[in-house]
Amino acid sequence: MKPFKLAARENKDKDTIIEIPAPAGTVRIGQGYCTVIAGPCAVENREDYLSVACALRKYGVHILRGGIFKPRTSPYSFRGLGKEGLAIMVEARQITGLPVVTEIMDVRDLDLLYDQVDILQVGSRNMQNYTLLDQLGQVDKPVLLKRGLSATIEEWLLAAEYILSGGNDQVILCERGIRTFEPYTRNTVDIGAVPLIKHLSHLPIIVDPSHATGRWKMVIPVAKAAVAAGADGIIVEVHQEPDRALSDGKQSLTLDHFQQMYEQVVKLAALENKNI
Ligand code: PEP
Ligand code: MN
Repeated sequence: MKPFKLAARENKDKDTIIEIPAPAGTVRIGQGYCTVIAGPCAVENREDYLSVACALRKYGVHILRGGIFKPRTSPYSFRGLGKEGLAIMVEARQITGLPVVTEIMDVRDLDLLYDQVDILQVGSRNMQNYTLLDQLGQVDKPVLLKRGLSATIEEWLLAAEYILSGGNDQVILCERGIRTFEPYTRNTVDIGAVPLIKHLSHLPIIVDPSHATGRWKMVIPVAKAAVAAGADGIIVEVHQEPDRALSDGKQSLTLDHFQQMYEQVVKLAALENKNI
């Protein structure tokens, strides 16, 4: 038996499909679907977030992203708007009808976020925060579990196991690149992780081509590669004006580039017999 008992494919006949109810309709993540999550790295202010959210909704995005508690390498960088950002996200959810995902960095924020957001994201830096994972196992809310900065596939699936073994079976895995010796890209994207996870586990897996590369010019081809490799979706950073983004502008798509990417992803999803 595999060390990740509940996450293992042998444990379940069917692939896990996560259902996310929202005002504009239920969104699904898992086998048979290609789900597109998009938005800026961080919620920066009300006007920008609402306008990017409405534009993305028009293009066909299924779920909105936006960080409000940001894990930053330097304590002097923009670390998110916190509660004020959450109120803006909630407003975007009401206006667009789309579900929202944001990162939870601290178990003490669980009550605050639980009622207001549709998916809780565990960031790469917290993939092995076992206290946080234990707490997320106790709630009935989907968790987007990013692969740790240098995590092996087994460590990642064991992190998922923490959540599953607590009783929460709604885990979505997210490949976001791993740290290697290569300095030209922010991370090295592991596309092979997609078919490997499909082989090992029944859990859905999506890819984050933005953090995986760190360069907006690589985002479209890597997003396409992810869908072609069988990913259940993608999560992409988009900003109206990447040059003035408070975080991750270099890897953010403009709305025009996002639209180009979306059109190509729709074609690939059709080839893979997936609903989009
Ligand atoms: C993010 O999605 O904004 C983020 C910080 O990602 P990661 O945890 O993968 O670095
Ligand atoms: Mn980011």
